[in-house]
Amino acid sequence: MQTVWILADQLVPDHPALAEANKKDTVVLFVESRRRASHLQYHQQKLVLLYSAMRHRAAELREAGWTVDYHRLEDTKAFSDGLKAHVKKHRPERILVMEPNDYATTKALPPLAKSAGVEIETVPTNMFLVPRAEFAEWAEGKKSLVMESHYRRMRKELGLLVDADGKPVGGEWNFDAENRKTEAQYRKAKVEPPPLAGKQSDETTEEVIEAVQRHFGDHPGRAEGFWLPVHRAGAQRWLRRFVCDRLEGFGPWEDTMVQDEPHLFHSVLSPLLNIGLLTPKECVDAAVRAFDEGDAPLASVEGFVRQIIGWREFINGIYWLRMPGYTELNELEAKRPLPEWAWGREGEETEMNCLRQCVRQVRDTGYNHHIQRLMVLGNYFLLSGTAPREVLDWFNSMYVDAYDWVMAANVIGMVLYADGGFMATKPYAAGSGYISKMSDYCKDCRYKPSVKTGDDACPFNYLYWNFYAEHAERFAGNQRVAFMVRQWEKKSPSEQKSIRAQAQAFLS
Ligand code: FAD
Ligand code: SF4
Repeated sequence: MQTVWILADQLVPDHPALAEANKKDTVVLFVESRRRASHLQYHQQKLVLLYSAMRHRAAELREAGWTVDYHRLEDTKAFSDGLKAHVKKHRPERILVMEPNDYATTKALPPLAKSAGVEIETVPTNMFLVPRAEFAEWAEGKKSLVMESHYRRMRKELGLLVDADGKPVGGEWNFDAENRKTEAQYRKAKVEPPPLAGKQSDETTEEVIEAVQRHFGDHPGRAEGFWLPVHRAGAQRWLRRFVCDRLEGFGPWEDTMVQDEPHLFHSVLSPLLNIGLLTPKECVDAAVRAFDEGDAPLASVEGFVRQIIGWREFINGIYWLRMPGYTELNELEAKRPLPEWAWGREGEETEMNCLRQCVRQVRDTGYNHHIQRLMVLGNYFLLSGTAPREVLDWFNSMYVDAYDWVMAANVIGMVLYADGGFMATKPYAAGSGYISKMSDYCKDCRYKPSVKTGDDACPFNYLYWNFYAEHAERFAGNQRVAFMVRQWEKKSPSEQKSIRAQAQAFLS
């Protein structure tokens, strides 16, 4: 007798350990752990997604003839309880697990199994297109890693949007010039983002909602109003709806931010991809098929393919290359605590409308799109010098698609420059100009984006210069931003003094 233990974020349709197993002498194990779910203050919608999706996957496997041993959070305090009860009842010779997606679980499983009196064996993951060792081989000897070269290599290897000679279809690798339109262009174009597939619920999900409210009612967000698919068929429908309804607009409006339009033309596939309800390959194949059939423009399809085989794989590769230790980096020595308004509690909101809107949205849904994460929230945490560990924990708590492997490089590398430029050649720092161009947030803000100092000045303006003042020495030697340091140095001493004083007053 053997056990295949399926972890919550590994609900793949073709689990590699099951592919090799025999239904007669295998038990499939699922364990929900209250302790694990309380590790951080995880958003209630994320917990509903995980537990409902696990229960649905278990039901599918039972229906397919597998013996399933399921431990629900209502009865299971910790993994060790579920595992010990399982071993006592089924006495497996070994437990097979797919390589966990994060470092902490990888380290925790063997001793956990040992304490339950059983050996654990891992099988390679099939949740990513690039095996960890292959990424490491590619990265070998490189001082910093450039996403674009990883991406082009992947396009060629997978034969996606390339011709027989390995040249990019349409003559370009990148269509940024056609994509990334501004909020003014959005208004002018009078586009209307199609709605998502609609609220998802069934008896299992309702049961989970109740359990989450009971055990984790003090976590951010609300369990009711759950809005994501929880099984493979629902996830496949979700993907089809994206490709039919929103892929066309994905490229042009990829970076635009519009108040009360949380998803615009984004795919909202990350919550499903990250737990294995969809595979990265089927997502990019569906998009490329739409292009081949003339249903979606090349610029949008290329932009989407870039996110999945480019950014997603790159981020995962960096995580495994640099762990352990990567999540503890703090190259800019940022120490400020996370502001209270970030949790979105009543009566604690910030007056900065862009931040307030993004926080409200993530509190209510567990989702922000990429530019809201990077250029609004992330930009604030970078400029304000918020401690990386606190930022990391906050992102990990608030998002329905958050897992260690994806959060680490996005937060430590991309947002906070806390790895000293290993993955981002420059900090993604911006004043109010970017937000006012790409969003409609400023019109409802008590601050004015065009004002640089004084009571009405947008805080991003003086925080931006304060950031370059604080890190002038470091960035003076960085070709991509040395210009900003020189601009700072050209300001008169009195202007510098007033900018720094206003930044300090705001931050304290
Ligand atoms: P789309 O814009 O439709 O993009 C398509 C897909 O591309 C996404 O579903 C995702 O799978 C992939 N993708 C795009 N960019 C990235 C990226 N930088 N890293 C990894 N995958 C990417 N992504 C997560 O999956 N989980 C997270 O917890 C997460 N946290 C983030 C935190 C910060 C600070 C930043 C800057 C980015 C984060 N991202 C995270 C990446 C990206 O913002 C989300 O994947 C994306 O917003 C998810 O929404 P979507 O599915 O509508 O994406
Ligand atoms: Fe954000 Fe500044 Fe615009 Fe206000 S004025 S919404 S703080 S960018």
